[in-house]
Amino acid sequence: DQALVRQVMETIEKEHVRFVNLEFTDVVGMAKCVTIPVEQFPDCLERGKWFDGSSIEAFARVAESDMYLFPDLRTFTVLPVHVRPQALNREIADQLDASDVVARVICNVMTPDGEPFEGDPRATLLRSLELAESMGYRFQVAPELEFFLLRFEDGGPTPLPHDRGGYFDLSTDLAATVRRQMVQALQQMGIVIEASHHEVAAGQHELDFQAGDALYIADSLMTAKYVLKAIAAQHGLYATFLPKPFYNVSGSGLHTHQQLIDARTGKNAFFDEHGEYGLSEVGCHFLAGQLAHARGMCAIVAPLVNSYKRLVPGYEAPVYVNWGRVNREALIRVPRPGRDPQHSARIELRSCDPSCNPYLALAVMLRAGLDGIQHRMPLPPAMDESLFLRDEGEPISRLSRLPATLGEALDDLRQDALIRDTLGDLIYEGFLEAKSIEWNEYRKHVHPWELERYLPIF
Ligand code: GLN
Ligand code: MG
Ligand code: MG
Ligand code: MG
Repeated sequence: DQALVRQVMETIEKEHVRFVNLEFTDVVGMAKCVTIPVEQFPDCLERGKWFDGSSIEAFARVAESDMYLFPDLRTFTVLPVHVRPQALNREIADQLDASDVVARVICNVMTPDGEPFEGDPRATLLRSLELAESMGYRFQVAPELEFFLLRFEDGGPTPLPHDRGGYFDLSTDLAATVRRQMVQALQQMGIVIEASHHEVAAGQHELDFQAGDALYIADSLMTAKYVLKAIAAQHGLYATFLPKPFYNVSGSGLHTHQQLIDARTGKNAFFDEHGEYGLSEVGCHFLAGQLAHARGMCAIVAPLVNSYKRLVPGYEAPVYVNWGRVNREALIRVPRPGRDPQHSARIELRSCDPSCNPYLALAVMLRAGLDGIQHRMPLPPAMDESLFLRDEGEPISRLSRLPATLGEALDDLRQDALIRDTLGDLIYEGFLEAKSIEWNEYRKHVHPWELERYLPIF
């Protein structure tokens, strides 16, 4: 640890860092930050940085509002020039002092007694990772982050179009440039993107993260969201992670590829060349556990009213609680193993969307899977034909599909004791409260569709 401190201090000196952003995350997944002059940093490492947690979502419920931020030095990194707050204002961007260097570090939130604060989502993930460790596993994940690049025209958002009808128009160049800059900025911050590409819809893009330890990936997703917004803003664009920004157009998912690594051997615990689809027994139980808790964790991995506009038939998003290999509508896919099956055996959960809190989402995915292992849950048969082709009239049991609304998802969350235990009481209650308010507000609104459809008739 002393070596790490020395290394960070050297970076501060060498790069002329002036300010440090102390970052953490609230229950609903909003990035929070306290900025300190670099002179305060050594003291912060020793004693933590005090802040008043009483106005932060779900933190506020605790009588004791004094909180302390303790940096996780492994996440210390200098912010690339384009990502510094000042760079967003084009007028002052030109006058930017090249020496005005800002670094960031992700922090754990602690109580005055030096205990991890139970309202800190990062602590929730850490607890789940410890349980996995006690069972002999490391949790490794690789997310696919989808998003739209929008332009604001005529007062409303319009997707930045890509090449229409084969015509290679200038905006194609722009989107590709923006994406390259995004990947570059992330790389400078130590985040490895394996590939980036245009997605199905106009203006829709995807970044594929290299597989890494769950904590590092959750930190990276929090970072990626503001980095992408900052880079887009420099081009006069808006990057949105809203799961379904447009009616009748593909939504944005956060498909999450997952593996357990045997901590002793370093080998992929999901791989067995003789297993069904190349999956080991452990892999099958893990998958079965995620199916069993698919509805209970849905509000965590797809947390907005809008998330449920994405989980509908016809847009490569999941609707049913099922798994398969090629089925584009499967909730969980077992991708075909690559050239190195021992390395690539994994499962891909597809209900998740980029509006989620990544710490909580990865925590519940892990605990759901481990629950499957602990209870040796049997794997139901794979479903590789399209369910959407079934007869319209055929009844579908409530249990065989995902929640259809945020309201339903909250009901399912209330019924899942394992997910509650994973979140801890404070986050569980804080999350349910915040989301119930959101749902009830939406429910009471009269939407344009209703007026358009009904008013001329009734
Ligand atoms: N955009 C789709 C979703 O909402 C996924 C498309 C794909 O990557 N196959 O999940
Ligand atoms: Mg993909
Ligand atoms: Mg995709
Ligand atoms: Mg995918």
